[in-house]
Order: sequence, then C-alpha cells, then structure tokens
Amino acid sequence: MRTEPSFRCRPWWSLVAAAWIPCVAREQPWIALGLAGNLNADNAVVRQAVASWLDAGGRAVDAALMYYNDEGLRQGLEGFYGTPIDPKDSSEPSASEVFVTTKIPPEQMGFDRTLEAIVEAREKILPAGRSSKTLDCVLIHWPGRTWRKRHSDPGCVLDRGSAAADWSVCRRESWAALQHAKAMGMVGLIGVSNYELPHLEEMDSVPDVLQIEFHPWWNRADLLQWCRERKVKLIAYSSLGGAGSTWLGDPTLAQLARQEGLTVAQLLLNWAVSQGAAVIPSARSRKHMEENLACCQQALSAETLSAMSAPLEAQHRTIEPDPRWIYVPGVAATAFGGPKPPSHAHLNLFGGVEQFHFGSLRKHCWQEGRTPHLCCDPAFGPEGFSTCWTRELSFIECCTATTDKLVLHPVGDSLAFSNSLVDFIVVGAGSAGSIAASRLARKGFTVVVAESGGDGLSSKNIHPNPSSAEQFDHWFVHNVEWTLGEVSRTTQIIHGRGLGGSSSVNGKIYTRTPLPFSPAMVSAAYEDVESDLLLEQDVIPIESWQRAVLDGFEAAGIPYVHNASMSFKHGVGPVQKISSCKNGGRVSAFHCALGKGDAEVLRNAHVDRVIFQDGKAVGVKLAGYVKGNLFCRHGMILSAGALQTPVILVRSGIGHPMDLQRLGVEAQVSSPEVGANLQDHPYLPFRVRTSLPCVDGDGSLYAFYSNLTAPSSRHRIFELQLIPRCRGQNMELKGYLILLKSEMKSGRVVVRSRDATEAPAILNNPFVGDGIDAWQLIHGLREVYQLLKALGSLREFDPPQESLMKDGFAGQYCAQHLGLWQHPMGSARMGSVLDHHLRVRGVGKLYVADASALPDWALAGHPDAGIRAVGSLVAQFATQDLQIKRVV
Ligand SMILES: Cc1cc2nc3c(=O)[nH]c(=O)nc-3n(C[C@H](O)[C@H](O)[C@H](O)COP(=O)(O)OP(=O)(O)OC[C@H]3O[C@@H](n4cnc5c(N)ncnc54)[C@H](O)[C@@H]3O)c2cc1C
Repeated sequence: MRTEPSFRCRPWWSLVAAAWIPCVAREQPWIALGLAGNLNADNAVVRQAVASWLDAGGRAVDAALMYYNDEGLRQGLEGFYGTPIDPKDSSEPSASEVFVTTKIPPEQMGFDRTLEAIVEAREKILPAGRSSKTLDCVLIHWPGRTWRKRHSDPGCVLDRGSAAADWSVCRRESWAALQHAKAMGMVGLIGVSNYELPHLEEMDSVPDVLQIEFHPWWNRADLLQWCRERKVKLIAYSSLGGAGSTWLGDPTLAQLARQEGLTVAQLLLNWAVSQGAAVIPSARSRKHMEENLACCQQALSAETLSAMSAPLEAQHRTIEPDPRWIYVPGVAATAFGGPKPPSHAHLNLFGGVEQFHFGSLRKHCWQEGRTPHLCCDPAFGPEGFSTCWTRELSFIECCTATTDKLVLHPVGDSLAFSNSLVDFIVVGAGSAGSIAASRLARKGFTVVVAESGGDGLSSKNIHPNPSSAEQFDHWFVHNVEWTLGEVSRTTQIIHGRGLGGSSSVNGKIYTRTPLPFSPAMVSAAYEDVESDLLLEQDVIPIESWQRAVLDGFEAAGIPYVHNASMSFKHGVGPVQKISSCKNGGRVSAFHCALGKGDAEVLRNAHVDRVIFQDGKAVGVKLAGYVKGNLFCRHGMILSAGALQTPVILVRSGIGHPMDLQRLGVEAQVSSPEVGANLQDHPYLPFRVRTSLPCVDGDGSLYAFYSNLTAPSSRHRIFELQLIPRCRGQNMELKGYLILLKSEMKSGRVVVRSRDATEAPAILNNPFVGDGIDAWQLIHGLREVYQLLKALGSLREFDPPQESLMKDGFAGQYCAQHLGLWQHPMGSARMGSVLDHHLRVRGVGKLYVADASALPDWALAGHPDAGIRAVGSLVAQFATQDLQIKRVV
C-alpha cells in the first residue's frame, strides 16, 4: 500500500529565475511523523525522533510553527541530508527527499504575515544540505480563534464586540498568500487544517489538502465526502487519540487488532488509511515508528471495518476547541454539521461559546498588545515550550497575578543559630517537616527546624482574613487568575505559615491516601503517624436528617459505609477526623509530633536557599527576621510545602536551566520539572434547603462515589460533603462536590525573582485543555440534585434545578463558582525531581518531604495524613542512607 513520494518540482533557485512557472507538487505521502503530541516543544526529543524516523524509513514529517520545535526538526533533517550541497547544482532532488509539511498559526494570518511566515519557516526548517528549498506542503493551521477580538490579534481580524471575532478576511488573505507562494515555487502543496464545511465553502479555490481530527470516534464522513468529490487529500490527526489517550488499552480495539494480527495503534492507523486518509502519528520510540510504518500492509477485513465504523463510544474530539465555533459570516454555529458529541455540549457550557477561551492573562497585557502566548497557559508542558523561556519569560509579566511580598515580622527568636552546626536541618514545621524532625530527633540526631512563620494559628481559623494586617504572618496567599468565556476571576491558593504549617489550619479530615512506596512501607508509615494522634472512631450520632439522607442514597444504590475515608469505598457515611493529639496538644502535626526539646525550632526563620559544598547540601541561608546561615553534617530536608519548596530549589540552583539563567542563579543541577506539575482538587459549592426539622449537632455527611452517568469512561472519584445548619425551623445543607481524582491539567509555580520575600507566581487553570473536569463536576452536581430530590424533603436547590440542567447556565455557574480545595501537590515530584528515596536528583544530602513530592495519583483523597506519612518515611530514608555510607 505504501507509495514512495515522487518529486516532480524543480529546485527553488531555478524557479526564482522563472518565477511564474507553476510547480507540479509532490503527492501528499500517506504517513508522516507528527511533531505535535508528546513531541511538542522539546527540540532535543524532536531531533532524536526525526532522526530515528528517517532511519526507520519514514520520509515525511508534519510540523507547525505553533509546535515551537522547528529547531529540533531542522537538526533531525540535517543528520539525514549531511553536508550542504553546492547551490549552483540544479539537479532534481532524489525521490527519497523528505516531505515537509508546516502550518501557519492564526497569529500569522493576513497576506503579508503569512508570506513572511513561509519565508521564516523555510529558513528555520530546511537544512543547508537539502537541495530543494521548497516547503512541500503548507497549511493554514486553524480558520481563526473563538474569542472576541484582542488587541494582539492580527490586523485582518474584525471586531464584533463581545461576540467571537471575524477571521474571514484573515482566511481570505492567508489563502491568497499561499496561492501566491505556490505560484512562486516557495511551497508545493497548499491547504488548510481544522476547516469545517462553511470555512471550506468560503474559499475561492479548492485546497490540495485538508487536515482534520479524524478517527472512529470523530468520524467526519461529511468532510471525507467533500474531499473525495474534489480530489482533496484528507490528512487525519489524532488517529491514536493524542497524548494521554486510553484508546491503545481499549479492550474492544485490542480484540479487533488481535483478529487482524495488528497492534491497536496499527489498527487505528489502518482504519484511517482505509478511508483514503493520510496519517501523521507522533512517536518517540523507534519501535513505535516501525510499528506505525508497517500498519497498512494488509487491508482490514470488512467485519473489522464495520465494527470500527459503528461508534465504539459517543463521538468526541480530542482537540479543543471544536473548529465549528470559529465564526463564519452569516452562518450559525449550529449549521456546521458533523457529529454532536459531548464536547459539543461542554463547549456550550460556558455561555457565549463563540467567546470560548481558556487561559489566564493579565488585562494590561491585552491592552498593551502583548501576545497572549501559549506560555500563559499552565499546561505549557512540564518543561515549558522553549520559546517561553527564550522570550525572556514575558509570561511572568503577562500571564500572572501580582502577589504581595511576604511580611517577615520581627517576633521571637534572635540570631542565635547563625553558623551553628547540627546533624539535620528541616525546612518548614508543617505536616511533613514536623514528623520528619521529630522522627530524626527520636533517633538521637540533633535537628534544627527552620520555620518561616511564627507560632501559627488556632485551627478555628480555617481561611485567611484578607482584611487582617497579620494575614501574611500566618498564611502564604497566592492569587491565581482564571478566564473562562466571559468570566474572569481571581481565586487563591493558600498555605498555613507557622508552627504546624497547613496542618494547623486545616479541616482535620484524615484519609489514608495511596502513596508511591511499597504497601508495607506505607502501612508502617501511617501507623507511625497515627501513634501521635487520636482519631475519631465510629463517629457521628445518626441524626434524623442524616437518616433521611442516608436512606435516600441507599435507595439510589449508594450504600452506607463506615469510615469511608479509610478505604474510599463507593458509599456514604462519616469520614475520620483527627480529634486531638495523644500528647494533649492542638491537632497540628507540629503540636502532635514534636515534644519539648526533641528538636530546636527556629521561628521567623525564612529560608532563602540551600548552601552546597562539592555538590552536597551543607546548610541554608536565612532571609527572614532571623538571618545568618545554618549548617548540617548529615543532610537537609525541605518540607516547605508544594508552593515554597520548588521556590527554594530554584533559588538554590536546581530548576529549569532557562529559569536559572533568567534569575541569574548559578546552576547546581538542571531539573526542568521543578515547579511544574502542580495539581489540586477542583470543587463546586451548592446549597440545599430542606423541609427536614432542624436538629442541633454538627455531624456532617460525606459521600465518596465514582460518576454514575457522566459521559466519560475515565475514572473519577468524587467526594460530596453535606454540612448542616439550621435555617429557621428547617435544616439547610451546605454542599461541596470535590473531584478527588481528576484529569486536571497541571499548573506551575514560577519564581519571580531572587528576592526571598517575593511570593512565586502560580499558574493554575482548571479549565485548560478540554475542560472535562469542569464538565464532570457539573454532571456530578446534576446527579447530586437527582439524589437529593428523591428524598422528597428538598425545597430549594441552589443553583436552581432549571438552570443547573441548562448547559449554558451550568457552565456560567461553574466558571463563577469553581474553586480549589487547597490540596496543592506535585511541584517537585518523585520520578522527575526526586528519586525513590525522596532525594533531590543530581545533588547529595538533600531530601524533599512534603506535598510537592507526591505524584498525581496520590491526589485521590485528603492529603494531610499521606504527607505526614511522607515525613515519617524521609526520616527512615535519610538514616538508612547514612548507615549505608558509614558501612561503605
Ligand atoms: C484551609 C485548608 C484546609 C485543609 N483541610 C484539610 C483536611 O481537612 N484534611 C487534609 O488531609 N488536608 C487538608 N488540607 C491540606 C493539608 O493540610 C496540606 O496538604 C498539608 O498540610 C501540606 O503539608 P506540607 O508539609 O506539604 O506543607 P505545610 O503543612 O503547609 O508546611 C509547610 C511549612 O513550611 C513553612 N515554610 C514555607 N516556606 C518556608 C521557607 N522559605 N523557610 C522556612 N519555612 C518555610 C511554612 O510556613 C509551613 O509551616 C487543607 C489545607 C488548607 C490550606
């Protein structure tokens, strides 16, 4: 089935001489290496992938200016073409020439800009050794954007007030530029990508190529038919489901693939090719590349084709936005045709779909016409797009909210510890730090704990008081900006600051979450932590309202479970809380774990950075009221929490090399994922008025359940909290629906400066990507409404039922009310920044034990207990490592 791409164009310099001789373009090859997906934005990976692909026999690549990896592509091609050829040599390029496709992003639309982009792309991509300077195929990447006109959009974009801008002039001008470039011989084939029928029908001529999302779950028979009738080559993207796809493990597909003697990836590619489409799968490994190249040596049986053509699941796109929402003058979005997938509905959710836009961007940047760059998006990848770093990180200014400086109050301790030497230093007296310090001290080591805050708050103070002058004494408060559709909001991520850290201000819910260590280690660590605590047992008296709710849930198939939080069984019941410390102190990790004199505790000692000697952590520099340096013999444990530990690491020279360069910090270790992968649990609040009689007592109800009807096979764990209060004679329930295990894309902690008192910028946007988590929460809330309605005692539900059930309103509600449950994690996680003993990779004697170390799957629960257990484990690891060194 494979056809070697033929080449019938003359090299570009002969065409410049005879400028108007039209080039007979090469045929679009049937398979190319896609440079988006998991290759996105990493030039080193792309170079390697392109080299492997060409070595394996692939002869086409599918690039785009928007992927920011042209440098890697050129380097990969350089290996193939070898030394530059003599420019006077006008011989025909060989048939094995690599077929290069690239795409023009919306930001470079318009006649002049598109031509400039083509010239730039030729220079950037085509290596000196390649004889042909013709780009084989150039596409308009998207027909425009779905948002209202922005200052930074190209001049050809027409403003339509609060409605989505009109990109039709841009499309026309860019298409004219492509036709011109083709006539000039600068490009071979020309085409468009992500165009829907109304966009195609607007064009004054037929493109050579149309690239669209196309697979069994997004089977665009309408566009395929349009292409067939006009002999336009269809190129399918997302054939394998894109990054994070679950399709390759789909049992139905696996069965079909087995019958055909193929892998699932080959089956999916073969399906697209059998429809007449070309495919552009991305791959990193040589094995996958060879598998992809060998996908289509046999035709699929009629039975397999028919099984795959029937929708295996509801139709849905993997790439957002749905291009049908890109405005065409005089055409309603609903007239665009094609399947109506769940994503269609969820696009509708956020009201004014034509303004649909995810991302966080400061308003002044729009006004000043700065580009709302991909860098503004927290999902810009664990390592960041290289351009975000090389463009002087303009996103720091343009994508993030301002934060206040920390106030380092002169309370308490003096400079007594300056230059003192102990066995271990622990940074942060929060959940993990307190346990780590106490366990090390109990083993007989001398330990000093450097804590940024003072005595801490009582646990009654569960949220910072913005009007209090002392706010920053007790809290780290980080503003996070979100923009969704028409709704722009600032929300906060907070940390407790002071003895006990967040454990001194939290809700005391105790859940044994999964942890990334062996089950025996995890269970021993939890037992160790619990040796300090008194946990509520068997808990709440069952009040009449609780009985009514429990009965209602049970009738709906959600059973009563005892201590649901210990096992996360599907069910409803009470959760366990920490009721007090065994030593009688307040419940914070600090007060339960650290007895008098176990470890020296230095309050108001804000750590600026780690001091290294010969690649080993030997001390810390303090920058708070308590100044000076502390030194340690055996090791240091960073337990400053998910929002501060990455900051200390970066200021100490451990981070993304571009970040270190920007800040002027001397590099200890290149560790690109420091600060990346920040995650949290999103939630939606609601309120229920019941006709149940008011009773005293405060027993809340908690339910843990996976989604019952939400339109996704992806596994979710919801937690539902119902908290009663009396309203007149009746019971009102305040409710929170929390997504404990989600698909939420991660955020990033970005260090703004070397100033130790400057808070980091937090990029976090729970709506990024396909917004599926927000959609799941809305579905969950609808389920909750149905469950509570079945009780018969429901008087009023806020948001009102008629609104909750309407996608547009529910989307607005979500945009306005969605919050984060204050469980930030993962910003210096094991597996990338840390090794399996919580040691920071690349340096000696430095450990991280706190929420930043945990991978996302440990998010499935309230994290305090797990983080305390990590504190217990790090004390073990540090002493084990010490003993090993002594033996050696
Ligand atoms: C309001 C709220 C309610 C919560 N409710 C619950 C709940 O009910 N159940 C649950 O399981 N989880 C809950 N959590 C989450 C849980 O408390 C945290 O995930 C956990 O305590 C984090 O532990 P940690 O050790 O990572 O950080 P923290 O406990 O926050 O400790 C970090 C410590 O480091 C200090 N520090 C920071 N920077 C520096 C520096 N540069 N130098 C020196 N010291 C520094 C801080 O002052 C702080 O004391 C809640 C969190 C909040 C904020």
